Amino acid sequence: MKIITVIGSGLIGRSWAMLFVSGGYNVKIYDNQPGQSTKAITEIKKQLVELEEAHMLRGELSAAQQLALLSSYDDLSQALDGAFFVQECVFEQLEVKQSIFHDMERFVGKDVILSSSTSCLVPSKVFSKVQNRSRCLVSHPVNPPYYVKLVELVPHPETAAAVMDTTHALMTKVGQAPVLLKKEIDGFALNRVQAAIIAESWRLVQDGVISVKDIDLVMSEGLGMRYAFIGPMETMHLNAPKGLEDYMSRYSENITRILSSFGPVPDFCGEAAKSVINEMYELIPCDQQHLAARQERRDQFLMRLAKLKKD
Ligand code: NAD
Repeated sequence: MKIITVIGSGLIGRSWAMLFVSGGYNVKIYDNQPGQSTKAITEIKKQLVELEEAHMLRGELSAAQQLALLSSYDDLSQALDGAFFVQECVFEQLEVKQSIFHDMERFVGKDVILSSSTSCLVPSKVFSKVQNRSRCLVSHPVNPPYYVKLVELVPHPETAAAVMDTTHALMTKVGQAPVLLKKEIDGFALNRVQAAIIAESWRLVQDGVISVKDIDLVMSEGLGMRYAFIGPMETMHLNAPKGLEDYMSRYSENITRILSSFGPVPDFCGEAAKSVINEMYELIPCDQQHLAARQERRDQFLMRLAKLKKD
């Protein structure tokens, strides 16, 4: 039976563990806070049972069968014993990640793949203290990974092609949607596109062009309707009678003109930013009760969308 070790049992570590057991892998969970990985399994059990009841459990196995594949460890060497793949999910702090990868290397064979969940750190920094970096990569998930399937696979400059291929195959096997970045870049692909959307949305509100409520509707009732199924490239290809080249000959001048009017990068602070923030707080008050209710609503929508995409 193939073993995967998950390092760090917070939100993302628990999610990875649930995905890997759904694909039939044995998953060993390690956390450096004593007792934390055992608590994580209790939490996962609750979620697997709820998912089974909602007919949303992933994979071919029952919740009880998936649960039986999980084990928890407070000892790093025991947790890594027998693993062919390690998914790191510790705090998003460079020194913490560098140090755990350095420690791990002492306990794993040279062919074991070392993968990081980092959202914002580039692989060349995360793995700078690892000696054999050809087996290292970032596998960046999107929250919540159980419903949002994208995983960005980002290589270190020295990562072997076979490591990218094996990880791509593993992610596909557990039902995720992996994409390959050909080289590392700050923000990877998702966060770069997201930053561009955030910047222009923020600017339009701050400059008094549109309200917070309405810019969100531009995405949720407009662009987002397509983007859950086809991306910007296919959208353009389908939006002109003769495809992408035709689209560009019709619209590229407009796009270039609009892009050159974007102005400088917003700094998201000061009085102007406060007014954007207050506008949002009037729509959704910034207290635990309101935020939790809206998060629950978001996750319910994502669950239904995931079901629709599966059908
Ligand atoms: P979290 O704070 O919920 O969990 C981190 C866990 O790691 C904790 O249980 C902590 O005890 C443990 N830990 C810390 N240092 C450790 C060490 N040295 N050894 C073992 N365990 C250790 O964090 P999270 O939200 O699960 O994020 C984990 C990683 O996933 C981060 O790199 C984050 O950027 C990335 N990520 C998070 C999201 C998200 O939306 N939360 C999305 C994509 C990627």
